[in-house]
Amino acid sequence: MRPQGLWRSLVLVQLASTRSFLETGSGRRKLQTAALGASSPSRIPEFAFAFDIDGVLLRASKPIPGAAESIALLKDQGIPFILLTNGGGKHESERVAEISEKLQVPLDPSVIIQSHTPFAELVRGPDELSALENKCVMVVGGDGDSCRRVAERYGFKNVVTPGDIFMANPNHWPFSKVFRKYYEGFARPLPNPCGSKDPTEGLKIDAIFVFNDPRDWALDAQVILDVLLSSQGILGTFSEKNGCTDLPNRGYLQDGQPPLYFSNPDLVWAAAYHLPRLGQGGFREALEGTWAAITGGPSKGVELKKTIIGKPYQGTYEYAENQLLRNRSRAFGTHLQQPIRNIYMVGDNPESDIQGANTYRSPHGSQWHSLLVRTGVYSGGEPTWTPQAIVDNVQKAVEYGLNKSRWHV
Ligand SMILES: [Mg+2]
Repeated sequence: MRPQGLWRSLVLVQLASTRSFLETGSGRRKLQTAALGASSPSRIPEFAFAFDIDGVLLRASKPIPGAAESIALLKDQGIPFILLTNGGGKHESERVAEISEKLQVPLDPSVIIQSHTPFAELVRGPDELSALENKCVMVVGGDGDSCRRVAERYGFKNVVTPGDIFMANPNHWPFSKVFRKYYEGFARPLPNPCGSKDPTEGLKIDAIFVFNDPRDWALDAQVILDVLLSSQGILGTFSEKNGCTDLPNRGYLQDGQPPLYFSNPDLVWAAAYHLPRLGQGGFREALEGTWAAITGGPSKGVELKKTIIGKPYQGTYEYAENQLLRNRSRAFGTHLQQPIRNIYMVGDNPESDIQGANTYRSPHGSQWHSLLVRTGVYSGGEPTWTPQAIVDNVQKAVEYGLNKSRWHV
C-alpha cells in the first residue's frame, strides 16, 4: 500500500473543510440529531460501532435475525455507527437505499463506506497539483459503466473505461469483439484519439482505478498493462525506459506513468455457488502475475507499484473513523478531533474485518475492538485472526459493546 501519509493528508484536508460545520447553532444541531435518528442528544456516546454487511446484517440479501432491531436501537440511542463493506459498484445512496429497504430501517448515505468510497477524496486531493477532478481517470470494473457514473458523482469530470478504448479501436484487444454488443450499450467517445504516437494528441490517463470486479478480465488487464508500460500514461506509446537495468525498478514505472489504485482486496467471496468465487483480489493477483511475467517481476527486482484500499487496510479504517467523527459531530456538535474512545468492529471474516480492526492504529487514539459473529464466513474453530470476542450474531455483538461501554438502554 502507498504510504499512509497520502490518506492522512487527504483526511486532514477533509477535516479542515468540515470544521466550519461545527459552528452550527443549537437549533440546527437539534434538526441534525433528529435526521440521524438520535432521541437522547443529552448523552453523548464515547463509543461507536462499525458493521460489515454480508454475513453480519444480511445473508444472501436477506436480513439476519436481530440485525434490523440492533441498527434501529443504535439509531434510537444516537450511538454512531457505520456500515463498512468491501462491496461496491453502486453509488453509496443506491446501496444504502437497498439496505434500508431490506432491514426496514431508514439509513442516511453518510453511514455507509464501500470499498471505493475513499477514492472520492482524490477528486480534490491534498493539493491543487494532485487533484484529479479535471484529469483523465480510467475506471475499471462493474456492470456496464455503473462505476463510471459513481466516479462522476464523486466529482471526477473526465472518466474513461476500457470499453470506450475498445470501441474506439477494437484491435486493442481483438478477443473482446464477442462482447461488442455489451460495450455498445454504454461506451462513449474518447476525449482524445487512441493509439496516437504523438504525445500531444494521444489519450493520456492520469490515474487508474479498479473500482469493482472486472467483467472482461482480459481487456481490462491488457489496457491497464498498456498504460503502465506507456510513456507518461499516453495510450499507444511504449516507454523507452522499460527494461533499463541501470534505472530503479529496471526502468519500469519510471516514465510518468499514472498511479494504480485497487479497491476491495478480497481474493474470494461467497456467492450462490457452493464453492468460493474469485473476487476483485483475484483480478489483482492475475494482473500482478502477468506484470511479473512481462517485466521479470520480484525475482528481477521489479515491483508493481499500487495503492490498495478496502478492509483490512489502514487507509480504509482511518476513513471509517473520520466518517464516524463527522457523523457524531453532525449529531451532537462535538469537536471533530475529540476521539471516540471505543469502536466495536463487528464482522464475519477474520481476514478482513478482524485483521483490520486488530492491526489498525488510530491517529486519534481510539481503541478498536474486533467482534467475530457466527452468521457468515466464519464457521467455527480457531480463526486466522483472533478477535476480542466471538459472539453468535450481530445482536449479541451490540449487547457486548453496550455492556463494555456501560451504556444502559
Ligand atoms: Mg462479510
